[in-house]
Amino acid sequence: MPGRPLDRRRFLTSAAVLCAPGVLARTPPLPEQGKALITISLDLEMSRQYPTRDQFHWDYEKGNLDADTKRYAAEAARRVSSRGGRIHFFALGRTMEQEDVGWLAEIAEAGHPIGNHSYDHVNVLATDPGSIQFRFERAPWLIEGKSPSEVIAENVRLADRALRVRLGIEPAGFRTPGGFHSGLADRPDVQRMLLDLGYRWVSSKYPRHPSTEPGTPPGDDVLDAIVTAQAEAQPYVYPTGLVEVPMSPISDVGAFRTSRWPLDAFLESIRRCVSWAIDHGAAFDFLGHPSCLLVEDPEFRAIELICDLVSRAMDRAELVDLGTIAARAPG
Ligand SMILES: [Zn+2]
Repeated sequence: MPGRPLDRRRFLTSAAVLCAPGVLARTPPLPEQGKALITISLDLEMSRQYPTRDQFHWDYEKGNLDADTKRYAAEAARRVSSRGGRIHFFALGRTMEQEDVGWLAEIAEAGHPIGNHSYDHVNVLATDPGSIQFRFERAPWLIEGKSPSEVIAENVRLADRALRVRLGIEPAGFRTPGGFHSGLADRPDVQRMLLDLGYRWVSSKYPRHPSTEPGTPPGDDVLDAIVTAQAEAQPYVYPTGLVEVPMSPISDVGAFRTSRWPLDAFLESIRRCVSWAIDHGAAFDFLGHPSCLLVEDPEFRAIELICDLVSRAMDRAELVDLGTIAARAPG
């Protein structure tokens, strides 16, 4: 891997600093090499076309979570805790403006890390004001006089402040709104912006993979191709020193909103991909959104399946947070 070698001890120290107070004492020792590292990550935001297909309003108000979304997130956290694991959540700064954030404070207190997902769900690769976020398209005066890169850096910084001030936690990493097939490879300026804000790792890459025509369940060809894409979803270090922890396909919105798969097809894809990760001692980072899953998977079958697969693998796999996967990036 080209670029600055990562000082493992220094990195681990800074990764630990990024955990919520109270979480540190419960952080287990690093899993041994060769053990599959499985993460359940949930992005806390409202999703376009959920809970009903005609819903587009959330594009302007991604962080204004409804009660059902909060309930699903809290119950998911409770279930994974009861299986001995933790969920890695990502939150939007704007959610911290809501009247009640006690449900999220409880999640943090239970030991689930919460990372930064920006304030308004901004596109960190945007280079013109019109493509930063729908909110600013409708209300351009909010960002007048600033360059896109200034708006984006400020949006990430404000979310960081919101999580610290309202929840009293240190944000656990940064996940870009939207995933990018090449991650941040072409944008060292964005990598440096995150490093300057104190982030040692980012979750921005979502590997390319085939899917089906909407409404068509996947066959073995598509499911196998998604398994093959897992090799592209392993952690690595950018030349700037920032660590990438990719999202593992297929996401819930990819399967349900875009491809309109039945739940059983999504579960089968998860089963094959997690099994691949276990067989190869690799990482798997499940990407879900409570606002989508509460409609498509109301009985938490995806999350329970992942817990089942990890527990059945015994000492060959472990449920971990994304900071643990980041620490395994080859430096
Ligand atoms: Zn998002």
